[in-house]
Amino acid sequence: MGGSPDVIIAGGGIVGCACAYFLTEAGARVLVLERGPLGAGASKAGMSHVITWEEPAMHLALARASQRLYAALAETLPGDIEYRQTGSMAVAEQEDGLAPLQAMLNRLRQAGVEGAFVDGRGLRAIEPRLAPDLAGGAYFPGDSMVNPLAATRALAEGARQFGAEIRTLQGVDGIERGSNGRITGVIAGGTSIPTGCLVIAAGAWSAEVGRMAGVDLPIRPRKGVLAVTAPAPEAFLTVKAILSAGYIDSIHGGDGAGGAAIAANIQQVRNGNLILGTTRAFSGFDVQVESRVARQMLARCARLLPDLRRLQVMRMWAGLRPWSPDLLPLVGPVTAAPGLFVAAGHEGIGITEAPITGLLIRQMIFEQDTELPVGALSPDRFQHSTPSGGEYDQEVQGRVRRQRDTV
Ligand SMILES: Cc1cc2nc3c(=O)[nH]c(=O)nc-3n(C[C@H](O)[C@H](O)[C@H](O)COP(=O)(O)OP(=O)(O)OC[C@H]3O[C@@H](n4cnc5c(N)ncnc54)[C@H](O)[C@@H]3O)c2cc1C
Repeated sequence: MGGSPDVIIAGGGIVGCACAYFLTEAGARVLVLERGPLGAGASKAGMSHVITWEEPAMHLALARASQRLYAALAETLPGDIEYRQTGSMAVAEQEDGLAPLQAMLNRLRQAGVEGAFVDGRGLRAIEPRLAPDLAGGAYFPGDSMVNPLAATRALAEGARQFGAEIRTLQGVDGIERGSNGRITGVIAGGTSIPTGCLVIAAGAWSAEVGRMAGVDLPIRPRKGVLAVTAPAPEAFLTVKAILSAGYIDSIHGGDGAGGAAIAANIQQVRNGNLILGTTRAFSGFDVQVESRVARQMLARCARLLPDLRRLQVMRMWAGLRPWSPDLLPLVGPVTAAPGLFVAAGHEGIGITEAPITGLLIRQMIFEQDTELPVGALSPDRFQHSTPSGGEYDQEVQGRVRRQRDTV
């Protein structure tokens, strides 16, 4: 790429690569700076579910828009992103889990999500390997899956073909601002690269990059453990994503004190392997897999799907979700630093929401009408003083619950 880039993107995960793809498609000259290899963060460590029933309404809108974009990208991107409609299920173990599930389903149906309530027998009619004593569940036939790392690479390659420069193993080490606060360049590889526009798409590391610009982004790493089994026959599961009904509560739970919220999440990927998850814990940037937590997680998965005990676990790892205090991503400009944009904080739904995030960033940078109203995603919502630590988490979780209850 000759001359200075119009836009520099800090981070080559799925979100940064989606931003690069949509910006270059519209003619922008883009440089992606990724400190590791492409997808080195959560994007290589996560699961594959494009989940279109996560509340509140903002997530539903983002997910639906992304699903439409994925269907188109699967046709146009260079490389197979393994995108396919698979359906998904949320399963309640006990009778007392049915009422909240039904209430959630009612809200979702009102919002236009296709879903059906099924009793225990109905569950096994759809997915015969489920445990015989499960109380019931919700079936979402429209959900889909994608290979996150393949999608990251294909978005990057698509951007490259439109003219983007993608530098791996070279991170952003500093951010330069003019006397009026405007972004003027970044420092990478020991040199200053001039640009008028920087997008922070550094996932769980976005706060660190924000600090380089003197901007406080309240994004924290939230650890999630996964296991992968040896390949099972393709027909092992009919519905390729099965979650415990408590999964959504685990998103809003978690901890500040060393424990982990655990909820079963089972996904069969295209080559037959089953990915088993998952946990949520705030433990800084530590990605160690603790055996006690891993054992509990595997037991929860086998409780829903007893045949899992016959499959061999080949590998376990942990990834860092980029958590934001209100569980909505930060997508848009930072008013205090003209030229600075953020595309980060998607927590456990960033694979799903990456394409629409890339499109919205393009529309905002090009000052076009946006696909969706984006006020709720503005990074400016956090640019005020906030309490800290557990007090902050409690206050925020209360706010999130109230928001969810009003959907
Ligand atoms: C266990 C688990 C299961 C999940 N399952 C799902 C799922 O089924 N469906 C779903 O939708 N989502 C899922 N997610 C969430 C999803 O993986 C993330 O939300 C998404 O990958 C975030 O993408 P990102 O590009 O924002 O961040 P990342 O992929 O973390 O990318 C950020 C990048 O920035 C780079 N970086 C950091 N600092 C710098 C710097 N100074 N300069 C340049 N680069 C820098 C990092 O190296 C990294 O590559 C899951 C996550 C986990 C952990």
